[in-house]
Amino acid sequence: MSIDILRDVRVHALLFKIDQDLARRRRKTGCRKCGAKLHCGNFPRKPKGCPASVRELYAHRFSFDCSRCDTRATPASVRFRDRRHYVSMVLALVCPRGPAHRSWLCERLKVAARTIRRWRCWWHETFVATPLWLLKRADFVPCVNEAALPGSAIERFDATDPGDRLLQFLRFLLPTSTGVLPV
Ligand SMILES: [Zn+2]
Repeated sequence: MSIDILRDVRVHALLFKIDQDLARRRRKTGCRKCGAKLHCGNFPRKPKGCPASVRELYAHRFSFDCSRCDTRATPASVRFRDRRHYVSMVLALVCPRGPAHRSWLCERLKVAARTIRRWRCWWHETFVATPLWLLKRADFVPCVNEAALPGSAIERFDATDPGDRLLQFLRFLLPTSTGVLPV
């Protein structure tokens, strides 16, 4: 994986479309608490890690409010994870080992070395314990080397284009984007 992937406008546009579709579907199902209609309540975001030319595609995270009971409904996202400032794509490009301050995310994107270390820790300790990974890791044959995540999982997706493989992986991660498995 290289920095070129981040400059691939097509991939960013596709991620936006996937999120748009997820939001549309979430809105249709209505409030999970009372069943009433959902109103638009998008969160403004200040994305980090994406090129300036595509910032507009990351200006909001889709979200809704219930028109009756005010319950918040935030659909899963391939662009954002929880409240992290960095876009999901960057988190998926972190290299698993080597000195953090020498990684290309640090040298080229100016991601702080401590942030890289935190992300590695997330992949190697938090992600591997998520219900998603515990359920799905057996689908990868032979086993994915967990010490080399996330790259070791991304390379198992079958698209020939690296941008498409990353897209497939971000889709795979969807259940973890809001911290819970979707119902
Ligand atoms: Zn409601």
